[in-house]
Amino acid sequence: MRFATLVEYFERLEGTTKRLEMFDILSELFREVGAEEIAPVVYLLEEQLAPPFRGIEIGMAEKLVLRAIAKATGVDESRVLTLYKKLGDPGLVVERLKEAPARGKLTVASVYARLMEIAEQSGEGSVERKVQGLSELLAEVGPKEARYIARFVMGRLRLGIGDPTILDALSKAGAGDRSWRPDLERAYNLCSDLGLVARTLRERGLEGIRAFRVRVGHPIRMALAERLPTAEEIIRRLGRCAVEVKIDGFRCQVHKQGDAVEIFSRNLERTTPMFPDIVEGVRRQVAAREAIFEGEAVAVNEETGEIYPFQVTVQRKRKHGIEEMAREYPLVLYAFDLLYCDGADYTPEPYEKRRRMLERMIRPGERLKLAEMIVTEDPKAVERFFAHSIERGLEGIVAKRLDAPYQAGARGFHWIKLKRSYKGELSDTIDVVLVGYFHGRGSRARFGIGALLGAVYDEQSDTFKTIAKIGSGLSEEEWVRIRELLDGCRMAHRPARVDSLIEPDVWVEPRYVVTVLADEITKSPVHTCGKRDDEPGYALRFPRVVGWIREDKRPEDTNTVREILQMYEMQKKVKLAG
Ligand code: ATP
Repeated sequence: MRFATLVEYFERLEGTTKRLEMFDILSELFREVGAEEIAPVVYLLEEQLAPPFRGIEIGMAEKLVLRAIAKATGVDESRVLTLYKKLGDPGLVVERLKEAPARGKLTVASVYARLMEIAEQSGEGSVERKVQGLSELLAEVGPKEARYIARFVMGRLRLGIGDPTILDALSKAGAGDRSWRPDLERAYNLCSDLGLVARTLRERGLEGIRAFRVRVGHPIRMALAERLPTAEEIIRRLGRCAVEVKIDGFRCQVHKQGDAVEIFSRNLERTTPMFPDIVEGVRRQVAAREAIFEGEAVAVNEETGEIYPFQVTVQRKRKHGIEEMAREYPLVLYAFDLLYCDGADYTPEPYEKRRRMLERMIRPGERLKLAEMIVTEDPKAVERFFAHSIERGLEGIVAKRLDAPYQAGARGFHWIKLKRSYKGELSDTIDVVLVGYFHGRGSRARFGIGALLGAVYDEQSDTFKTIAKIGSGLSEEEWVRIRELLDGCRMAHRPARVDSLIEPDVWVEPRYVVTVLADEITKSPVHTCGKRDDEPGYALRFPRVVGWIREDKRPEDTNTVREILQMYEMQKKVKLAG
């Protein structure tokens, strides 16, 4: 496929404010593109060169992209910069500065290969080689193609397409409807690589998709927990179940193949370099040649065995000085699940069997320990275990259904979390994605930002529904910074996947997730979260940002509409009980 043809699809996708239309355009695109180019197309739609766990990034800052534009167009760098300041979009800058040819001849495969080449440059002189590579590419394509390449390279393509929409569209392109979605989703959950799923579907059909298996080195999309308000409700729901401590650290999915160890984070990024101590521990303490297992890594006081609060653990998140940090605050990985071991896929096996095997696989030692666990059907025992966890400064407990398989990529009642509650307030914080902001009046008007529009994810429609206008919780400096970040992803119109009755002053691409604390969830006619026909939606009362942007969460990882409804019900019960 010509890259220029793909660009026509990009334009159509960008122009729509309806998700269904997006879905139709995508399925048309997937029908048109050949098997050998479908993976790159999927990656480009996801605004990446490869799935995050492969860690491939273009690595060009704004300045370098502008320099490449100057080189490609033969225009003075300072003029490029002036134009960029005026237009605020590298794509429009290069498009305007470029003259003929109107349409380039490069294929999707060759543009993709050239972008990969740029990304792969490293070491001495790599910056210049990147600039050179990009300027040559921009020079060879037509103005419109250059527009999208420049945006892509700067991470500003902003097509705003979610994985579920891609999965639906792949199904429609193959089957004519959405009926293949569950199979496609299962394959995706096992390999976390939508490009690979798309290519397999094209090359080997539905059979190929059904033959997908867990593979060491390919992160598995993580299972997530639901919540319930009390121990009693947990037992009512699960009966006899396992109850584990809930530790607040870094979730790690460990992949071991001989001595090679890789670690992936909650959002499936490769985080191996952050954990040299855990990697060493895995080599020493895992009694298997090949394994995939999960746990939570936290800093532990070696003298007392106490688990440090998250603020200490989180210091590990840094680029330099990791070895020193590992000496000062060594981490312990509390393992809680086994997904694969020496040729056997454990994901379909019941929890009990996975845990038993995990206990056998991990040798006693310092770096790897098993997450403490009891099995019970007594709500009182759950409460005691919960209270004990809280006393130790832990976050709470996770109850697990004994006969449940590992539910890759799904949030379900196979795992139920019960957390420390904030008295008189909502028993949990809520993660929202920012979809817009308001200029603000009063004292903050001078920063040009007074409030944020937050939304939660609706899995069913793959859209974001608004739930809160958030005007507090940030310091003055943070307001300034957040505005800069949001301005970096401004949109000219409401993003297609945002469903909102409120019109903020500035729409932004749903990208940044923040955690908010609120007093309660209330019914509200102005928000779309949970809104149906004439029924009101739901809103957060007195929401305030806690902490800063959650880099470990993608927009789809916010709390969901379904969870908000559950929390609303939970809140009602707690109020009645109180
Ligand atoms: P979620 O991960 O459910 O989207 P979140 O990131 O806000 O939400 P929590 O709601 O606090 O996290 O709880 C889930 C997380 O708890 C898991 O992702 C995992 O990192 C952590 N965790 C700690 N201990 C356990 C355990 N024993 N079993 C499962 N998860 C655990």
